[in-house]
Amino acid sequence: MIDYSSVLNRRIQDVPPSGIRKFFDILEDMPDAISLGIGEPDFITPWHIRNAGIRSLEKGYTKYTPNRGLSELRRQISRYMQRRFHLSYDPDEQVVVTVGGSEGLDLVLRCTIEPGDEVIIPTPSFVCYGPLSSMSLGTPVYVETKVENEFRLTAEELKAAITPRTKILVLPYPCNPTGGIMGRSDLEAIAEVLEGTNILVVSDEIYAELTYGDEPHVSIAQIPGMYDRTVVVNGFSKAYSMTGWRMGYLCGPRELVGQMLKLHQYGIMSAPTMSQYAAIEAMQYGDEDIAAMRAEYDGRRRFLLDGFRTIGLECFEPKGAFYMFPCIRSTGLDSDAFCTEFLKAKELAVIPGSAFGPGGEGFVRACYAASIQDLAEALNRLEDFIKHR
Ligand code: PMP
Repeated sequence: MIDYSSVLNRRIQDVPPSGIRKFFDILEDMPDAISLGIGEPDFITPWHIRNAGIRSLEKGYTKYTPNRGLSELRRQISRYMQRRFHLSYDPDEQVVVTVGGSEGLDLVLRCTIEPGDEVIIPTPSFVCYGPLSSMSLGTPVYVETKVENEFRLTAEELKAAITPRTKILVLPYPCNPTGGIMGRSDLEAIAEVLEGTNILVVSDEIYAELTYGDEPHVSIAQIPGMYDRTVVVNGFSKAYSMTGWRMGYLCGPRELVGQMLKLHQYGIMSAPTMSQYAAIEAMQYGDEDIAAMRAEYDGRRRFLLDGFRTIGLECFEPKGAFYMFPCIRSTGLDSDAFCTEFLKAKELAVIPGSAFGPGGEGFVRACYAASIQDLAEALNRLEDFIKHR
């Protein structure tokens, strides 16, 4: 008999499973349930993008691509970063095509963290940053953001979290699960704190195309002094509704990108070839699709926000991504109990805020990448649930 407790890497054993999982397990036995739980677009990838993937197969493009990704795709990514954010990245030395934004995050954290290095992570936020840091023997330092600041990271909060061991600041905006964004002046305040330090910024901008205010998304790499210390992680999953294609990319300083490429080379070889051809099409001809989906999400966002407020749930107005983060303290339940009871009683899934780290308790995440009919039905069930408690 083999003893797996000594075979398995201790760091992996110590990582807790994602707090979201439990709800999907319950959901599996409820075929008629409505789920506002999953964080992915409900649209099918636009046809012309799917067709580009199909055409690549018809042409027989079934081999590996260069490790960094197809040259044409890297050129398109570089052009996109320039036209959208006025950022210049050399497609041959500063861009890597990855297997989703997820791989990009893994690469940059593994490539930089030494044992004991501290990684500052504003929370509530996406679930992977802490576990990925711990698996590299880093120490996640969670900084709780506040609803009264619309879940932005403030300069004061950042200052208080920095120690001589701080190596990385993860900047997860637009934010999953809160929908919070950071505008130019917010980012300038962060840049001022970082000036003169040796702290690298990992900016997860996977929701950059999904903002709903007057100002389009600003990347922290655009703020003076930040380009050289920032790795931007982005991808196609959310903007083009391409989660299953597993297409992402990272852009950053040459010194880092060359090293990250080695990890990618040995661990992955190259991102899926068919998906890369689809991604070229998305970058070249996908702007209108993004605009149409964004407008649709925006309508749902307003609808759900109105609905929450009408039934008496406090909710700050999220300006990014496709999540609402209403406060459920008035029900007297904690977020896990709320979601479990609500799912069992009303067959509707939302995710407890506590799954997204410190500061998430008292809130739940509802993803509005769902049809208006489902959102309307969700509001009915929610109102009923709250009234009859
Ligand atoms: N970052 C954030 C904030 C996310 O919400 C997600 C997906 N839920 C990812 C990264 C990873 O996305 P993907 O690997 O599909 O690009």
